[in-house]
Amino acid sequence: MELKNVRTRFAPSPTGMLHFGNANTALFNWLTARRYGGTVVLRVEDTDTERSTKEFEDKIIDDLRWLGIDWDEGPDRGGEFGPYRQSERTDIYNEYVARLLESGKAFRCYCTKDELDAHRDVCRKEKRAIVYSGKCRDLTPDDRAKLDAEGKPYTIRFRTPKDERVALDDLIRGRIEFDTNELDDFIIIRSNGVPIFLLCNAIDDALMKITHVVRGEDHISNTPKQVLINRALGLDVPAFLHTPIILGPDKSKLSKRHGAVSVYQFREEGYLPEAVVNYLAFMGWNPKDETEFFSLDEIREKFTIEGMSKSPSIFDHNRLGYLNAHWMQQVDRGRVVEMCIGFAARKGLTGAEPTAGEKELVAEVVGILGDRLKKLDDFEEYADFFFKEVDTYAEKGVRKHFKGEDTIRVLEELTKRLADLDDFSHDPLEKVFYAILDDLEIKGKQIIHPTRLALSGKTVGPGLFEMMEVMGKEKCIARLEQAIAWIRENKT
Ligand code: GLU
Ligand code: ZN
Repeated sequence: MELKNVRTRFAPSPTGMLHFGNANTALFNWLTARRYGGTVVLRVEDTDTERSTKEFEDKIIDDLRWLGIDWDEGPDRGGEFGPYRQSERTDIYNEYVARLLESGKAFRCYCTKDELDAHRDVCRKEKRAIVYSGKCRDLTPDDRAKLDAEGKPYTIRFRTPKDERVALDDLIRGRIEFDTNELDDFIIIRSNGVPIFLLCNAIDDALMKITHVVRGEDHISNTPKQVLINRALGLDVPAFLHTPIILGPDKSKLSKRHGAVSVYQFREEGYLPEAVVNYLAFMGWNPKDETEFFSLDEIREKFTIEGMSKSPSIFDHNRLGYLNAHWMQQVDRGRVVEMCIGFAARKGLTGAEPTAGEKELVAEVVGILGDRLKKLDDFEEYADFFFKEVDTYAEKGVRKHFKGEDTIRVLEELTKRLADLDDFSHDPLEKVFYAILDDLEIKGKQIIHPTRLALSGKTVGPGLFEMMEVMGKEKCIARLEQAIAWIRENKT
């Protein structure tokens, strides 16, 4: 597909943090515009005044930027088609609704909640589709004047034409058709005067000259209604791309039950934006080759609408972890260190405002963790003992490596020799170990494993000599002595 002058929009409702699924559609909007040379609009859909907040708007913007998704027009940067916050566009919606009322394409409905409920019950009983009764469809101006004089509240409904079909050619799914008889005379303005989402959304897409609406398939049922609204108003109808839904591992819609679902949570857990974007792109698109790792720029170059798919994707935490492990090794180490500094502070491994010394230690630890650091959690998993005392020894390790008097003899010898060592760095440390192997006639594992366990409380971690070098002489000796005392008390 070759397209020109594409205008896409990402239209989040600021009622919560940026959900993974929304980040996915944001990415595809961005890709569609950036790949084909076009404009990205950010439109904040905050008509739900009770649930929308400026804080969420700011957080969503922050998460999008973190992912590397940018836009050309939006509430934060203005543009020709603003304002870009729907709460600031009420007059526009009212004007268009007035036009619909005038031309008879919308009507006031004075039905009370009780009346609507009663009608619904009848439909249910008679096993009919639950659609509006049509009671207020053809009220005369006199009827209306009377009801208005009584101060009766009303909603405004769209007069959906009968016996028509609305067809749309979704660029991902092909032709989708709807029967207008099933669409109902749907509400467009609530009784409190607030326009409903699909009205504002449709009008704004036209006024902002959006050419391609890329959004989740959960919006498919809104689309024919929006097409009807725009047609009734003589407004343009954009092309639609309904992206596949994202499911949890149990095949139900991805939600909080499945763990982290907001981009912010993934940030906090220490995933890199490179990994998240790489992951997101593969939910709904496929480069049709074997490549697994893509930067955002590479995705943009490879992206095509034809490569998009309609089959749902299943969120796979392991896969994200796998991509993250890759990107952790690709990105600048300085960035990884900065992330780990923040993480260590949040976890209380350092002070909340880490000192220069603590930062230095984090950097050294990152250095020796190497590719063990697949995500931030691993920093705690493999390296917390650099920052806090060892108060337990891994049970499995104790069983295998703390063997009473034998181990005590080895660790005591090591302690003695370390005390005499001046250059406490990798090579001299290694020499000390080899000398002990010869002198005590033991195997490497009889000293390496107990030493690691004594120093870290763990059975796995960074290379032993690197680890000792970073810990320093004093701490190593203190921990060896602590372990010897512990073995004496518990294992002999
Ligand atoms: N505000 C809507 C949402 O967040 C936008 C839907 C759309 O992209 O049209 O679901
Ligand atoms: Zn009515």
